[in-house]
Amino acid sequence: MADPSDRRYHYPFINCTNCGPRFTIIQDIPYDRPYTTMSGFQLCPECKAEYNDPTDRRFHAQPVACPTCGPHIWLEARSNPAPLAEHEEAIQQARALILEGKILAVRGLGGFHLACDGTNSQVVEKLRERKLRVGKPFALMFPTLKAIEEHCLLTDEDRMLIASRERPIVIVPKRPESPIVDQVSPGQNTLGVMLPYTPLHVLLLEPDKGYPAALVMTSGNLSDEPIATSNQEAREKLSRLADAFLLHNREIETRCDDSVMRNIPGSGRYPLRRSRGYAPNPIRTQWQLPQILATGAELKNTFCLTKGQYAFLSHHIGDLENYETLTSFEDGIAHFQRLFRVTPEVIAYDLHPDYLSTRYAKQRAADDGLPAYGIQHHHAHIAACMAENNIPAEEPVIGLSYDGTGYGTDGTIWGGEVLISTYRSFHRDFFVKPVPLPGGDAAIKQPWRVAVSWLLAAGLEPNQDIPFLSSIKEDEVASLEKQIFSMVNAPYTSSMGRLFDAAAAIVGVRNQVNYEAQAAIEFEALVDPKESGEYPFSLKDGHIDLAPMIRELVMDVQTSLATGKVAAKFHNTIAEVSRQVCLLIRDQQSINQVALSGGVWQNMVLLERTMAKLQHAGFEVLVHHQVPSNDGGLALGQAVITHFTLKN
Ligand code: ZN
Ligand code: FE
Repeated sequence: MADPSDRRYHYPFINCTNCGPRFTIIQDIPYDRPYTTMSGFQLCPECKAEYNDPTDRRFHAQPVACPTCGPHIWLEARSNPAPLAEHEEAIQQARALILEGKILAVRGLGGFHLACDGTNSQVVEKLRERKLRVGKPFALMFPTLKAIEEHCLLTDEDRMLIASRERPIVIVPKRPESPIVDQVSPGQNTLGVMLPYTPLHVLLLEPDKGYPAALVMTSGNLSDEPIATSNQEAREKLSRLADAFLLHNREIETRCDDSVMRNIPGSGRYPLRRSRGYAPNPIRTQWQLPQILATGAELKNTFCLTKGQYAFLSHHIGDLENYETLTSFEDGIAHFQRLFRVTPEVIAYDLHPDYLSTRYAKQRAADDGLPAYGIQHHHAHIAACMAENNIPAEEPVIGLSYDGTGYGTDGTIWGGEVLISTYRSFHRDFFVKPVPLPGGDAAIKQPWRVAVSWLLAAGLEPNQDIPFLSSIKEDEVASLEKQIFSMVNAPYTSSMGRLFDAAAAIVGVRNQVNYEAQAAIEFEALVDPKESGEYPFSLKDGHIDLAPMIRELVMDVQTSLATGKVAAKFHNTIAEVSRQVCLLIRDQQSINQVALSGGVWQNMVLLERTMAKLQHAGFEVLVHHQVPSNDGGLALGQAVITHFTLKN
């Protein structure tokens, strides 16, 4: 691509048998050109010769192409589908627009990105406004690993992961002196970075004097919808978001978002979103599995199909909260069934009756006359972690399932669970002593409401002496109190995720959030690494009672202890709770393996401190390396549990 004498010089679709698209262009198997979105492009004689030559690197490379016979790119202005420029000229004009501070919709491998200058605060702010996205970090693409090093602090593990063939977004610490503007990841001390993963990206990112060191590359979608894949969809849906469109005519059969990973120091990669580059590669299990369809959860949905030893966990589908995402979910299942020749014999779903994935599962089971099993959310988290760590059948583990929300077997909302688990069954040995969640799911957006509930549970008056309440009207607090005491629309929850939100609110991080877990994420970023103190708590009758912690934490806040110290003490306490619970269980039941799963374990401070404490106490600690600890890994656990349920 860099050789001016080559016929594919600067060709944005150059590829060989080792690179190029596959999952996003395949329509059916066998993987042959007629069954891909390349079928409409007739190979020219030169490309055909390469394709047929066993000694050529393009031998049977299905997407092989060149400027003569293959797809091409062009640039369009907003609301005017006449090309402004094509080929090389389109790239040059696109780069000029980026430099001018414009926002570009770029059609990529698995969907559209919105791209802009990551060093220009005005355009990043404009992108946030147009995308209606407040606070949630944007990913950045850099031209080279060396460029990333200039802005971020990398370990060897980070370098390898960033440069790996899967090219995920990797979350790494930002150098304080980096000119990447704060609007890229507000309130955080990390950046999500990646390298170009298609020739088009290489051309768009190529370093030049005065050209931005990095581009924001965020998914091209309307807030909660799936990313756009077709040119027409982009023209319709992204016209208010982008100033211009960099398009091509290689159709995207399957939408596929960028994967997001990080490293646990010394322990390896830790997926946050497993998608492009990883899906649909199967996870190999130790069993012969029947053909199971597991439909996953609601947020960060993935589904899973099994066959033989393999669990085919899907690409990231997204939050199943609207028609577009549901369609993507249904199409995805049909596509996977066709690609892997799976015909489900049994269906697994989450116990939550209102999840669209649950409704789909029940309807499908009824339509096809299939057995279907409801799987408890937190058991599924732990089973996913056990399965990818090859824990043998019947071997129990202590499962610390710390999560946002999940439907419990008693109809309450769980999320701070210590489950003695095998694949077959689980026992809830300990859980966070529940508090009312006023407003139910709506409380997720308003951590101050959960904080008030925790104050009351700790026997404290929610009055204006506690700084976070000074900005909230007294009658609003009073009516919330009334709601909590009358138990109207205030289900009990043991959720650890909500506890983190509550603590973050009490120390003054924020009272409202713009995206899930924002308060907890910003709270984590504040932790003072030098502070080793802890708060009191008690373990009794299966309850983890954290009211004593809340009482002291509030005292710390009222006596103006530095926020970083309070944040550290809080995180240390939850790690210590975990250690003591595991010690108690080991004494009684001689179980030495501990599995950590659930969305709260995306908190790296908590994860690292808990792992250290448990390992120091001699426990074998199981963490995720293949699938996310959040709901994106849930379907794997549902599938494995269903296998063992059937064997009963
Ligand atoms: Zn050709
Ligand atoms: Fe969960």
